[in-house]
Amino acid sequence: MPIRLPTLPPVTPSQRALASAGALVLELILAGLLAFVWIDRTAAPQDLPWKPFSMSHPVGLATAGKLARIGADPALCRQALDDAGLTFAEAPDRSQGFCSTANSLRLADATLAPRGPVMRCDLALNYAVWRHHVVEPAARETLGAELNRIEHYGTYACRTVYSQDGARPSNHATASALDVAGFRLKDGTSVAVLRDYRDPGPKGAFLRRVRAGGCRLFGTTLGPDYNAAHANHFHLDMGQWKICR
Ligand SMILES: [Zn+2]
Repeated sequence: MPIRLPTLPPVTPSQRALASAGALVLELILAGLLAFVWIDRTAAPQDLPWKPFSMSHPVGLATAGKLARIGADPALCRQALDDAGLTFAEAPDRSQGFCSTANSLRLADATLAPRGPVMRCDLALNYAVWRHHVVEPAARETLGAELNRIEHYGTYACRTVYSQDGARPSNHATASALDVAGFRLKDGTSVAVLRDYRDPGPKGAFLRRVRAGGCRLFGTTLGPDYNAAHANHFHLDMGQWKICR
């Protein structure tokens, strides 16, 4: 006796639409996965937020975000300095009104002049990346000599912005800002923000390049283009304002 198979109900147009939508979603997920694998394998690690930070990577699209994450964690920040071979001494925590040097250290960095300013760890880490990947290549490529010193006006100062009464605390009040006045190269060349920023030659090009490179790392980078108060230095800080002028 022949077996009678049950007759299936006909596929309705809405079921057909649902099936093709499901197939499309699967195709999109697969395409997304393939794109992720391709990007993961071909893009530079400094451009990918999920790849670990390394001081050997040049500054890329994801560098500032990685440094912000690492810099927010005192232990990870110190580990990153260690991994980069940078030595430092812990600075004591001092509090004075709205000012504090919590989470600060002094880099054993012969380039900074004066040496060993107290720096919040995230500032020290960003400074180290800026020096290695921005200032040193710029000196070599724009001025033809190796960097010798980065001259600065300091990091920590217990004051408000522009020292005005009632203004918000400056980033200098937490040792998270560095004021860079100029540079000295190993061939004796001296470059000063005040004197050379608008120089049409290589010194001006060098200064504008290191300022632009700072904008890719620090929260705020201000120089002579910002206002007269910054005519003689670059202010580099770890604030959240994301100003680049
Ligand atoms: Zn400043």
